[in-house]
Amino acid sequence: MAGVYPESLSRLIAELEKLPGVGARTAERLALHLLKADEEEAMALARAIRDLKRNTRHCSICCNVTESDPCPICADPRRVHSVICVVEQPRDLIAIEGTGAFRAVYHALMGRIAPLEGVHPENLTIDRLIQRVKQTRPKEVILYTNPDYEGDLTAHHLAKALRPLGVRVSLPARGIPTGSQIEYSTESMLRDALEGRTELAT
Ligand SMILES: [Zn+2]
Repeated sequence: MAGVYPESLSRLIAELEKLPGVGARTAERLALHLLKADEEEAMALARAIRDLKRNTRHCSICCNVTESDPCPICADPRRVHSVICVVEQPRDLIAIEGTGAFRAVYHALMGRIAPLEGVHPENLTIDRLIQRVKQTRPKEVILYTNPDYEGDLTAHHLAKALRPLGVRVSLPARGIPTGSQIEYSTESMLRDALEGRTELAT
C-alpha cells in the first residue's frame, strides 16, 4: 500500500509503523492526517520529538527520564533517600508518584528479565543499582516489579543479588491481581501495595 505514495509519505508511514501498537493501517491514517494538517501543527509534532531526544536523558542515580541530572526526585532533600523503590520502567515510577504516598527514591531497571525475548540481567541497570546500594547503604530496597512471570523472575534475581549486601529487601503487598500491570493500576491499589509491603523471608 505504502508503495503507491510519494517517497516522503511512504517514509513517514514506515517510521510510524515502527511505533508500538501502530499497525500498517493506523500508520497510514496518521501519515495522511499529518499530510492534511496545517504546517504549524505538523511541525509542532516534529519539534516535540526533536526536543524530547535533545533535552531528556536518564538520571545518573536512578535512571529515571529527566531534563536535569540528578532528576528532581533524587535532588530533593525532603525525600527519604534510605529507601529505594525498584521499578521496571520510568512509567511505573510515574504511576507510583501519582499516588503522592511515596516519599522515598527510585531505581528504574529499564526493563525486566525476559530470557525468551533475549533480555538478560546485563541488559538492565542492575549493576548500577548494586553499585548504588554498596555506595549509599540504604536501609531498604522495595522490589516493585510487575506481578507477572518476568517481573517475579526479575525480583527473584535482584533479591539474590541484594541480600548479601545487608540491605532489607521487601515486596509490595499483592493487592494488584497477578498479571495486572503497575501502569494500569489505580492509585489506591498502588498505595495499599506499598504500605502493606513485607520483608522478603530469607
Ligand atoms: Zn534520579
